[in-house]
Amino acid sequence: MSALPFDGHAIAPETQAFLASTHQLLIGGAWVEGSGELAVTDPATGLELTRVQTGGAAEVDRAVIAARRAFDGPWSRMTVAERTALMHRLARIMEQHATLLTQLDILDNGMPGFIAGLTTANCVEMIDYYAGAIMRIEGTTTAPPRHIATETEALTYTLREPVGVVGQIVPWNVPLSTAILKLAPALAAGCTVILKPSEETPLSVLALGQMVLDAGFPAGVVNIVNGLGAEAGAAIAAHPGIDKVSFTGSTATGRRIVSAALGNLKKVSLELGGKSPVVIMPDADLSLAIPGVAMATFFLQGQNCMAGTRIFAHADIHDELVAGLAAFAGAMTLGHGLDPATMQGPMISDAHTAKVMGYIEGARESGATLVAGGARLDRPGNFVQPTIYTDCRPDMALVREEIFGPVMAVDPGTGATDG
Ligand code: NAD
Repeated sequence: MSALPFDGHAIAPETQAFLASTHQLLIGGAWVEGSGELAVTDPATGLELTRVQTGGAAEVDRAVIAARRAFDGPWSRMTVAERTALMHRLARIMEQHATLLTQLDILDNGMPGFIAGLTTANCVEMIDYYAGAIMRIEGTTTAPPRHIATETEALTYTLREPVGVVGQIVPWNVPLSTAILKLAPALAAGCTVILKPSEETPLSVLALGQMVLDAGFPAGVVNIVNGLGAEAGAAIAAHPGIDKVSFTGSTATGRRIVSAALGNLKKVSLELGGKSPVVIMPDADLSLAIPGVAMATFFLQGQNCMAGTRIFAHADIHDELVAGLAAFAGAMTLGHGLDPATMQGPMISDAHTAKVMGYIEGARESGATLVAGGARLDRPGNFVQPTIYTDCRPDMALVREEIFGPVMAVDPGTGATDG
């Protein structure tokens, strides 16, 4: 059932209750007071949704102590069957609260409802998948080198062991999904975790924290320290008590994390930004290629690390392709993610909108030809029209750099049909 409307859109009672509650940090199995506070706004309206407490170095320190205690204690002593059961229990609880998780990602991130619904379902599947993987963690035995075998009895084998305490830092573009992609395999491997959501989108991860407690995970297995990147994130990357940091976000931050991690030579995993090409050959079925190419760029309003935004169109099909893409872009409905008609939501923030608009204006100045969009909508929220440029050259910034917005660069190509 729907409850109070938010900007004209109904929000479930559970979501209303969550937004009205106090949002602290999850450390050592309890919600604890943070040292700061941030407002969380809806990027589709600019309205404040709620306020969340934040932590820095001191809170990360407490979380590391709790995670180490859980790693050395209950978590490592649990049988694989017990850990598997806990993860399946978490998946069932997430299923029961799927509307809450979905609506929080819509409100906090701005993503359209059809995407948020899919990502929530996918997150539940990932938890179940990795719960199943716990039972299949295997090593191998290998034949010992001959000179050892002739002199002594020897057994050589590989043993997969948990790394230990893992710091996980995630971005804002798919908040719950990027968190679960890190959390689920780490828990399956037997690690304990300090998870930091993006300060832009902490809500679904904080709701997940309560579900972890309700599932019965031992205290300290999952800790959530919401906070600014330069404070909580930097403290995680540098902390000597953290054995591994797993990061998803921008390339610039990835570099900072690598330097900060040098102190204790912790293991580092990085999933960073990029610029993905799409090639359209002359024999492509354009009725399929046009929506496919359009959504490669405009899916998640282009705030997608896999976005295919650099289009190489063969000269033979260029004009028809571009006309189809422009028609597709022109027909996209921009709006609030809670509106089922919405195909594209807002940019995450004012600052990010300014960055995207900078690329759009820069492309015009560098001689690219605008064929669709090109403007910020004159309404509340951070809405940028789906934008297409053609006559793009490889030296242009919009061709070379990750924009993380709904901006497509088409290279008109020069190939001949038989080339
Ligand atoms: P970002 O690098 O600004 O922030 C990501 C996270 O790092 C946030 O939690 C932030 O608080 C934290 N952070 C910021 N400064 C930090 C510091 N000095 N030390 C430690 N942590 C710090 O990235 P973003 O703007 O949130 O996300 C967009 C970027 O993420 C894009 O470049 C996108 O391509 C990338 N991304 C990559 C993937 C992938 O799988 N490769 C997936 C999603 C997003």
